[in-house]
Amino acid sequence: MKIQKHVYDVVIVGAGGAGLNAAQVASQHVKTAVISKVYPSRSHTISAQGGVSASLGNEEPDNWHWHMFDTVKGGDYLGDQDAAEYLTRNAPEMIRQLEHIGMPFNRTPEGKIAQRPFGGHTANYGEKPVRRACYVADRTGHAMLQTLFEKSVSQGIQFYNEFYALEIINTNGTVNGVVAFDMKDGSIHIFHAKAVILATGGSGRVFRTNANAHTNTGNGIAMALRAGFTWSDPEFFQFHPTGIYGHGNLITEAVRGEGGYLLNGEGERFMERYAPTIKDLAPRDIVSRCMQKEILEGRGAGPKKDHIKLRIDHIGAQAIMDKLPGIHELAMVFAGVDCTKEPIPVVPTAHYQNGGIAIDYRGHVITGSNGNYDNVVPGFYAAGECADTVHGANRLGTNSLLDLVIYGRTTGDLAAKYAKEHQLVDLPADAGKQGLALLERFTKANGKYTFRDIYEKMINTMQDNVGVFRTGENIKKAVKDLADCKEMLKDYKVVDQSTVYNLDLIEALELNDMVLVASIMAHCALLREESRGSHYRDDFTERDDVNGQKHTQAFLEADGSIRVDHRPVRTKPLTVDTFPPKPRVY
Ligand SMILES: Cc1cc2nc3c(=O)[nH]c(=O)nc-3n(C[C@H](O)[C@H](O)[C@H](O)COP(=O)(O)OP(=O)(O)OC[C@H]3O[C@@H](n4cnc5c(N)ncnc54)[C@H](O)[C@@H]3O)c2cc1C
Repeated sequence: MKIQKHVYDVVIVGAGGAGLNAAQVASQHVKTAVISKVYPSRSHTISAQGGVSASLGNEEPDNWHWHMFDTVKGGDYLGDQDAAEYLTRNAPEMIRQLEHIGMPFNRTPEGKIAQRPFGGHTANYGEKPVRRACYVADRTGHAMLQTLFEKSVSQGIQFYNEFYALEIINTNGTVNGVVAFDMKDGSIHIFHAKAVILATGGSGRVFRTNANAHTNTGNGIAMALRAGFTWSDPEFFQFHPTGIYGHGNLITEAVRGEGGYLLNGEGERFMERYAPTIKDLAPRDIVSRCMQKEILEGRGAGPKKDHIKLRIDHIGAQAIMDKLPGIHELAMVFAGVDCTKEPIPVVPTAHYQNGGIAIDYRGHVITGSNGNYDNVVPGFYAAGECADTVHGANRLGTNSLLDLVIYGRTTGDLAAKYAKEHQLVDLPADAGKQGLALLERFTKANGKYTFRDIYEKMINTMQDNVGVFRTGENIKKAVKDLADCKEMLKDYKVVDQSTVYNLDLIEALELNDMVLVASIMAHCALLREESRGSHYRDDFTERDDVNGQKHTQAFLEADGSIRVDHRPVRTKPLTVDTFPPKPRVY
């Protein structure tokens, strides 16, 4: 098979907010390419709704210390605190930079960037909600992605769109390339580079009810694992409280930021009972659990008492159409509800992968085990949802878009600097062997099972057993079901044999990664015998700071088995010597 070779200084896999910000920064200094399995503007970032956080203090007093405190506390003390400081401290300046390159933020009457409240963001260390989320109506991700894409295109970055990355090339501990195939004609390409940035997004498609794009299939995590690197904190998957009942599509938290609230089947505003201070704006893990509890205890809404109502009509039709037009449309299309007149039926929906490829506070990929964890991998960076450091056990709303632009910028800068200071490392003679073997395995797959057989089994077991509430017994069932899925994949059938846009083959590759990712999530959820952030065990309901305040580190062994180690949480901020963790009461 003929392989086409390309040489770049920096290659970025992923064209969401993280990938594009990295690209536009790196390309200012060195020759940069971006590989994406979808056209950039179809990346999941496009659907981000509610906002991007920064303590600008435009609407009321705010500062980065409070933002950092909320980030650490919201993450239930599992996030690295050097990273929390880095993120929150740089946020105001980052937002101004985005504004300068053209992001059309909503404005206050005086012309400043407008800000709204969001879950878990508070003033004065948890005292009361604060307006910290900068926004573009309820289409903030759309505006961000288009702004960054325009900027990237204007800088002559080479885009390889609809190229599917199969392998990260690890040459004796240095990452110096990516193997991909062109989905349009099946041709194979090796991208030889001085530095590689992974920005491949999340993996929410492993759950039945989720708010994620079809592209969120955990490929980057799977590639990193196959190349010998570490997945940190796989067991923490965030459920967003308000997905449209029966569909999962997201209704942004900005609805509650703008004054919306949740009602149970008895018409009670139940969050007042659970979180008297910040009520419906408590962090997502808490609100999701409270909703699920109301439903399980028979206080759900509707004939089956199986959902919750989200009320927003009281703020007025004009305010809804000005600030939440996208939500009005989504509720109309998917729930058949006009939210200017009646409440929207909602349930918790799988939303965000809190963990990811282990990185240091600036986005260098780190690896290691047995007490030696922080070894930086030369030439390798990760940014955005596929990376793990700052969000701990539960990400606060609007902190992800901030993470994309901050870590995109930093990794773009660092990778360009690295590329300037280093020579290309030669590729091994058999470079790409692993990726090509994977492709060949599925191209020739002529067994019994097709996509639906395995996919349905995986999403159902993940939803029912590794969801908002988990028990050892349930998770064990998921572990067993996923082991069955792995076996079924050995007897898989790809029907379409074409080389032109073969979606049957692409689905097979994505499914293979999803089953791997789901298996590791379940495996690690079983090992964590405590409740923390988005991981809630009905059989271990307390947080255990003595044994539990540590990152899970998952590795994939050569024989396909999972090995788990732990890494201490970095609790020392960069400049703040003492950072008082307070009890998590809302
Ligand atoms: C509905 C919704 C609303 C949200 N709202 C908000 C919000 O208001 N505020 C906030 O802070 N966060 C929000 N989030 C979270 C946030 O939008 C995401 O975490 C973030 O956009 C992820 O960006 P990313 O750049 O990491 O990846 P993505 O935008 O998901 O992009 C991933 C990229 O990787 C590429 N890729 C993946 N695998 C491969 C492969 N094998 N080969 C080639 N390319 C590959 C894809 O083509 C894509 O370009 C929301 C999320 C959802 C789902």
